[in-house]
Amino acid sequence: MDVVKLQKMRFTGTLVHYMAVCPRKAWLFAKGIGQEQNSTLVEIGKWISETSYPDRRHEIEIDRTIVLDWIDWKNKVIHEVKKSSKMEEAHRLQVQYYIYYLEQKGLPGFTAVINYPTQRRLQQVHLTEDDRQHLESLLERLEHLLEQAQPPKPQRIGACRQCAYYEFCWV
Ligand code: SF4
Repeated sequence: MDVVKLQKMRFTGTLVHYMAVCPRKAWLFAKGIGQEQNSTLVEIGKWISETSYPDRRHEIEIDRTIVLDWIDWKNKVIHEVKKSSKMEEAHRLQVQYYIYYLEQKGLPGFTAVINYPTQRRLQQVHLTEDDRQHLESLLERLEHLLEQAQPPKPQRIGACRQCAYYEFCWV
């Protein structure tokens, strides 16, 4: 594995998810400005994740960096549990990052399923070559972002209304 790819793989799945939603959110989270820890929405999300599929979840931590909800090793499928599909694109990038991460560690051929238990819905996710390039570009932008001393200015987007940093950005 080359050094650049290794550097990109120090990111958590949550950070990649946030980067896909809002770079400012990713920067604040990465710098330990922990509004997310106090968010009721985040607490609800954690509760759903922790109480759904109790017989299946194992929380597999890899390199103390990424945490997978569970893996179907036989069929090479990573499973991720999410509260709602509102941020579906960001969820997709997060699990594609997990597929990519395993690939870089010499475990190719995984796909992923995002489980939305409150909607009784499953979303299958693959990592195509185009997706891989898109993801690598996002990881490079994230790398660059975290070198900045200040966060990007807030931009009003749909996600702001439910973001734990709302007051920090807008009040
Ligand atoms: S409130 Fe909006 S601008 Fe601020 S971190 Fe959240 S999503 Fe980004």
